[in-house]
Amino acid sequence: MQKRALVTGVTGQDGSYLAEFLLEKGYKVYGLRRRTSTPNYENVEHIKDRIHWLSGDLTDLASLIEAVKTSDPDEVYNLAAQSFVAASWPQPLLTGQITALSVTNMLEAVRIMKPTARFYQASSSEMFGKVVETPQKETTPFYPRSPYGVAKVYGHWITVNYRESFNMFACSGILFNHESPRRGLEFVTRKVTDAVARIKLGIQSELRMGNMDSLRDWGFAGDYIKAMWLMLQQEEADDYVISTGEMHTVRELLEVAFSYVGLNYEDYVVIDPEFVRPAEVDLLLGDCTKAKEKLGWTLDVGFEQLIKMMVDEDMKRVKAEDRYNQLMLSH
Ligand code: NDP
Ligand code: GDP
Repeated sequence: MQKRALVTGVTGQDGSYLAEFLLEKGYKVYGLRRRTSTPNYENVEHIKDRIHWLSGDLTDLASLIEAVKTSDPDEVYNLAAQSFVAASWPQPLLTGQITALSVTNMLEAVRIMKPTARFYQASSSEMFGKVVETPQKETTPFYPRSPYGVAKVYGHWITVNYRESFNMFACSGILFNHESPRRGLEFVTRKVTDAVARIKLGIQSELRMGNMDSLRDWGFAGDYIKAMWLMLQQEEADDYVISTGEMHTVRELLEVAFSYVGLNYEDYVVIDPEFVRPAEVDLLLGDCTKAKEKLGWTLDVGFEQLIKMMVDEDMKRVKAEDRYNQLMLSH
């Protein structure tokens, strides 16, 4: 029988890769989308007609109950969130409502309508925050450093709690930073690769940055969504760290991206206090031995390959946008 999956956050980076992957596997994919005045399907344009769209918002339990009822899913992937750390200080309550409390909404909708469905919660390495051990693994205590990180800790524990309280098949994937050409433009990798393209093409002259010394364990989103699926195919629900086991500074990211197009980042980068955070996560480095051994998960794309792929895609996109703008100006 054809398997059915419900994906929240399907228009985001991970949701779009996951939807592609599930469609490829023959799933019937239901995507939850919140209503906006100007719908944004950029990440899913190529598969838009193959997704069964459901209207709903993570903060609205009634809409989630309806979504689970309609989709009758075998698997639920809860990827929707206010996902940008920096935005969680100016919008702490919204972040708490969406990224923390709404996980309970989604779990309740599943518990009430389809308690046998397998549930994936998108947890985050930001929960480790001011890390108490390195590398970080499933047993490492949490010490979040932002309203986002605090919200994700709630989402993680409520998922564990529903597994233990109601015997639901609920997994939490503790994913370290993962990027792609579909990453939001405000995240540091994409901000840099987009700027590199604009600077190279003469459209932008400088790049304003915050802390360049922080270290992150950056992987490719297309590799990470496979781990989500693998978690839901196991005999027992459990939690897993997903990471590359390698870390790089923001400075190294700049070096790789700028030098790839023959530029020196030091000629363009300006430090701007606006991008320095009230509290920083200095270092994240994951140990995903458990995922490798139990899930058989592997990754294909390394750090340099990832950044070069993102620069290549941004060069193409920025060039096309520039051509379009020139054309409009000439008319
Ligand atoms: P994105 O920001 O790209 O996508 C977030 C998605 O959530 C979008 O589709 C957005 O819809 C949707 N959304 C936001 N608020 C609501 C709401 N109230 N109701 C319904 N949908 C909503 O995130 P990613 O794809 O990068 O990440 C996926 C998940 O994984 C997130 O939970 C994130 O916090 C988590 N995560 C991500 C990591 C990463 O490095 N990428 C690392 C660890 C965890 P819209 O298009 O309308 O805005
Ligand atoms: P995060 O790890 O989820 O917060 O992912 P980001 O990509 O937003 O940030 C990664 C790191 O880059 C953090 O330590 C930021 O402080 C640092 N950083 C430095 N300058 C910038 C910037 O201009 N924008 C962003 N988003 N991050 C920056």
